[in-house]
Amino acid sequence: MSEDLTPIKWFWKHIPNFSGELLFEETLYKHTFYRVGGPTRVLAIPKNLEDLKLISEGIEITKIPTAVLGFGSNILVSDNGYDGLVIKTTKLNLEVSAREEEGKLIVKTGASLPLSVLLRNAIQGGWGGLEFLAGIPGTVGGAVFMNAGTHLGETKDKLYKVVVYFFKKPPVSLDIGDTRFIEFTQNQFKYEYRKNLFVPEEALIYAAEWIIHKDTPSNIKTAIDKILVRRKETQPIDHPSCGSVFKNPKNKKAWQVIDDLWLRGYQIGGAQFSEKHCNFIINLGTAKASDIKALIDLAKSRAKQELGIELEEEVKYLGF
Ligand SMILES: Cc1cc2nc3c(=O)[nH]c(=O)nc-3n(C[C@H](O)[C@H](O)[C@H](O)COP(=O)(O)OP(=O)(O)OC[C@H]3O[C@@H](n4cnc5c(N)ncnc54)[C@H](O)[C@@H]3O)c2cc1C
Repeated sequence: MSEDLTPIKWFWKHIPNFSGELLFEETLYKHTFYRVGGPTRVLAIPKNLEDLKLISEGIEITKIPTAVLGFGSNILVSDNGYDGLVIKTTKLNLEVSAREEEGKLIVKTGASLPLSVLLRNAIQGGWGGLEFLAGIPGTVGGAVFMNAGTHLGETKDKLYKVVVYFFKKPPVSLDIGDTRFIEFTQNQFKYEYRKNLFVPEEALIYAAEWIIHKDTPSNIKTAIDKILVRRKETQPIDHPSCGSVFKNPKNKKAWQVIDDLWLRGYQIGGAQFSEKHCNFIINLGTAKASDIKALIDLAKSRAKQELGIELEEEVKYLGF
């Protein structure tokens, strides 16, 4: 790569052609729920497909490492930040519409749509079946990527179609020709608990379709309100966090493991295993990513040594 094509210079040069935002050395704590994390070389917030095409061109020319971010409600960014490009998807595709297809009621959503807005539409439109998403503070893209859910339901069971966009050239093996889009239908989904195994690394989720059923707005609203009240009672939502840090191991809840290790309320620097829900690590105001990571590492190593339990993170890392 020649000197005048460093990633930063390439993206600087193309600011006038970009409808969304291109930010340089942007500190990611502003873009994550934990409110921690250092800068990224480039933060791209695309507004449309033209922006995505430009980003893809930049990635191919400059070979800059790339990561995708939604609302940042499940991501821990290192204090040193990320030496690459972060594509923040929150303004890219906010569509939401319903249709009937072969007797099924389908809702199409853009990946950028906040789940809270999807649920507001669900109440208005009488779209039942998505209530389990209440209180999960992410985007549609984040929910599809993570298979977000609770004991009341999981994203994978309600999905009909997932549309992904390749920001890097699709692998030849996929044989999809010139297009950058690929649609996955139900029999192509591969999901596990809080994990997808099918969204290609070089792609981002652009849209998703959900199967829903007709219900009354008041039933849907009542179910959602009940979930929100319960969350308020049981979760420390007055502090920055990423929700549950660990997945539940077999036959046990992750919070019970933390409790059995006497880590409820334990603090390192400005980070603490919440007293209220100890599978949440909260930022008390001055936490660094390294404080949060130190708590995670401590719980993992003690769970293994003292209880023979392998704790696996639900939270995703960037820049570690
Ligand atoms: C208070 C609180 C409560 C929570 N409760 C729950 C809960 O009950 N259940 C639950 O499952 N989660 C919960 N979470 C975690 C989080 O909200 C979910 O994981 C959510 O789905 C993340 O969405 P996001 O848009 O914020 O994704 P981000 O945190 O921005 O990203 C998460 C991962 O998804 C990837 N990603 C995001 N968008 C895209 C895209 N468009 N294309 C490709 N990859 C993408 C990112 O690269 C990253 O690996 C909670 C979080 C908080 C703060």
